[in-house]
Amino acid sequence: MSNPSLLILPGDGIGPEVMAEVRKVIDWFGAKRGVVFDVSEDLVGGAAYDKHGTPLHDDTMAKAQEVDAVLLGAVGGPKYDVLDFSVKPERGLLRLRKEMDLYSNLRPAQCFDALADFSSLKKDVVAGLDIMIVRELTSGVYFGEPRGIIEEGNERVGINTQRYTESEIDRAARSAFELAMKRGKKLCSMEKANVMESGILWREVVTEVGKDYPEVELSHMYADAGAMQLTRWPKQFDVIVTDNLFGDLLSDLAAMLTGSLGMLPSASLGAPMANGRPKALYEPVHGSAPDIAGQGKANPCACILSFAMALRYSFDLGDEATRLEQAVEKVLADGVRTADLLNEEGRTPASTSEMGDAVVAALEASL
Ligand code: NAD
Repeated sequence: MSNPSLLILPGDGIGPEVMAEVRKVIDWFGAKRGVVFDVSEDLVGGAAYDKHGTPLHDDTMAKAQEVDAVLLGAVGGPKYDVLDFSVKPERGLLRLRKEMDLYSNLRPAQCFDALADFSSLKKDVVAGLDIMIVRELTSGVYFGEPRGIIEEGNERVGINTQRYTESEIDRAARSAFELAMKRGKKLCSMEKANVMESGILWREVVTEVGKDYPEVELSHMYADAGAMQLTRWPKQFDVIVTDNLFGDLLSDLAAMLTGSLGMLPSASLGAPMANGRPKALYEPVHGSAPDIAGQGKANPCACILSFAMALRYSFDLGDEATRLEQAVEKVLADGVRTADLLNEEGRTPASTSEMGDAVVAALEASL
């Protein structure tokens, strides 16, 4: 049998720097754990535009459709701000998400004990926090028609339409229930069923899907109350499922519970392929950070933890994913810090590659 395949798209800015550290981790798993991938690498974003005049070449898109998982660094940078909207670096990423039909966006909010002081909330509220937000990614108000700005009488009107079909809600809910089964078996669905018909339908469909997952404890909450509860006592949640708009807001809110952008991974999943694996794109939440690019200052942990998500959700290697997450945790507990994780004067931060090396050393120590 051939090895599972991985397409790496480092992208722009700090993307290639953090991805170089992930390559060390991938190599380690191949050499020491027998977890071997067929890895190919290609261009996306500004890097692809520079070479091909498009932020995602058709050949790269075709490759992304064929592989078992795609791992992306980041795209964008000031150099490309002047480009036409149709060829901006972000269009490459949006094309990947759209053509792979990645409808389920997973954003964990996990607070490593060593970083609990970095949260804006009290330490006891966030220490040990481990929740997952599942955001529907391909429908809802960001895509609904009609949309636009029209003239009405003597003024302009801005229109967007919140629209969800049963099947769109069904597949997002199912991916959240599947996740809950692999975690703490608790799922909270958030909408605004009190004021929105799409929210009523959302609640009905999620409840219906829940009958297929009797082991999962399902609850419902209005999204505004959910935002309050997330800041009051986030540890009450395990998995949260919500629509595109509320998910956008709630996942950013939850992300900040944990402190630093340099620590946040994400996964975007679509329908299962012929081999049973979901279409999948893994990427750090952060962007290309042009302010620190090329200086060896970037924190590679978000990208490394995105690879951990790939191990768990694409390759069913939950134990190896945990091994990697624990290696990151150990490095932090040992006090290794990139600049974004340091608030003490006078300490010398670890460079991007020193952080990557420390994670590999912690993996080695785990054997
Ligand atoms: P950003 O996430 O790139 O940076 C925000 C701040 O966080 C910066 O100060 C940066 O130095 C810091 N930061 C981000 N990642 C870090 C890391 N791994 N280690 C240490 N510090 C880190 O967001 P931005 O500045 O708003 O956007 C910069 C560019 O990235 C823009 O072109 C934007 O369009 C693009 N962008 C891309 C993505 C993506 O590829 N998914 C996401 C967001 C922004």
